[in-house]
Amino acid sequence: MIIDFHVNFNNYKDKIFNYYGFWHYKCPCCNTRNSFTRHGSYVRNLCLINLSGIQEFKIKILRLCCNSCETTHAVLPPEAIPYCIYSFSFMLYVFIEHFVHNKNILKLSEKLNTSFQIIYVFISKLSSQLNKCISFLRAFLAVQLDYSSSFKEVISIVSKYKDFQKDYLVYTKSVFMMTRNVLSRNIYIVAYSKPPT
Ligand SMILES: [Zn+2]
Repeated sequence: MIIDFHVNFNNYKDKIFNYYGFWHYKCPCCNTRNSFTRHGSYVRNLCLINLSGIQEFKIKILRLCCNSCETTHAVLPPEAIPYCIYSFSFMLYVFIEHFVHNKNILKLSEKLNTSFQIIYVFISKLSSQLNKCISFLRAFLAVQLDYSSSFKEVISIVSKYKDFQKDYLVYTKSVFMMTRNVLSRNIYIVAYSKPPT
């Protein structure tokens, strides 16, 4: 899996899916650089929060094949959380509404047209990652949090942290709020270096 922070949901089609040039990515399995060729695609759903509200999209995801070790890797835009149709922005919106603005979960689920059970799943996952998130925020931002800090305190900081998702992924080698565990060596993150032209 390759997560490219130089693209986004809106320009993914132009910059990734319809790109037939040279791929500069490094293979997450064998670390070989510049060895990819296009290798099919699949369609996935993605729930985003944008100016129009909550929208569910279908997006065609490109797969690349490493010519060196013959493994294939999906290239994901950063909004997508692997194996989950809900985007980072969607989950963060839920957390802000519930923990910071004290919105009731049932009312929130009605407003978002989703089940309240899904929101409880999000909260349960957040709860299991909260200490890791606090450790990250303490190390990266030197914020005054400790392991007894509330969801509200943590989410308030995350909501103002523009590059949270990217920095968290690079620093902790795991995707925030991902429900399935993928070994970190199987993710190649394109984050800080200049994008290929
Ligand atoms: Zn490889």
